[in-house]
Amino acid sequence: MPAWEYTKGLHELGDHCFAYLQPDGSWGWSNAGLIKGNGTSLLVDTLFDLQLTGEMLDAMKRVTSHAPIATLVNTHANGDHCWGNELVEGAEIIASSACAEEMGELEPAVLGAFVDAGEEAGEVGAFMKVCFGPFKFDDITLTPPTKTFQGRLDVDVAGTKVELIEVGPAHTRGDVLAYVPSEKTIYTGDILFIDGTPIVWAGPFANWIKACDLMLDLDLETIVPGHGPVTDKNGVRAVRDYLAYVEVEARKRHEAGMTVEEAARDISLGQFTTWGEKERIAVNVDTIYRELSGESGGPDVARLFTLMAEMYAA
Ligand SMILES: [Zn+2]
Repeated sequence: MPAWEYTKGLHELGDHCFAYLQPDGSWGWSNAGLIKGNGTSLLVDTLFDLQLTGEMLDAMKRVTSHAPIATLVNTHANGDHCWGNELVEGAEIIASSACAEEMGELEPAVLGAFVDAGEEAGEVGAFMKVCFGPFKFDDITLTPPTKTFQGRLDVDVAGTKVELIEVGPAHTRGDVLAYVPSEKTIYTGDILFIDGTPIVWAGPFANWIKACDLMLDLDLETIVPGHGPVTDKNGVRAVRDYLAYVEVEARKRHEAGMTVEEAARDISLGQFTTWGEKERIAVNVDTIYRELSGESGGPDVARLFTLMAEMYAA
């Protein structure tokens, strides 16, 4: 495949597919996609705030002026993939049922207040500011999906078929892939982070690994991750390798009686040490520990941000 330049803005991937990229792909700097049919388009994800989403929609006008966005798909409930939804006026918004449910659980202004507290909230506040300080959360109106599905849903974008495939719970509770078979292209949401560390909030790990295997079995040339540069199946293999490695290493330490924090600090990241956001190992170990102990509740996000902040500062 051609090596797509990793620069901010809209990139044409083929006759029908575009990617909107936001380097450097770290916390909050997500990618989106545009699939153009014969007269209408489908948008895959909005961005973290209204300014960034507005900028993206402007950049897409060269396509959407003659093929307006009729459908918006949210790959999952994290704000950096759906908090710009309100700007896509009149579009049908599709997500998995699990994603729709999760989307209502965090108000943007609540995250904004944490970020504004910044250093006053100690090490974790400083870390939140590093992660989320560049974004503006006080003027966002959560705009939920208007249509939900479970499992699979095919969408006809004026002659171009898009297959929506639910693979969550994995990164979040309701992750969805958007596959365009005619273009051998897939938009993965945060099932892929490229050159950044995957963060397994929901798990189980087995589901995420299964999602990687599913992609490896598809006829694919061009893969647009939720964060990082456009990739191919090598990018999928790398994420799969990371997940499989961390799962084995965390299990060993669980058996040895280490705490989550001890295990997260003890695991050597080897070949993955060059990836950004290494502190996410804390969340990943915690998710495996929850799996092993049969805990059914979700992650303790506040505690995990505190732990990540400590590891980041170390
Ligand atoms: Zn994301």
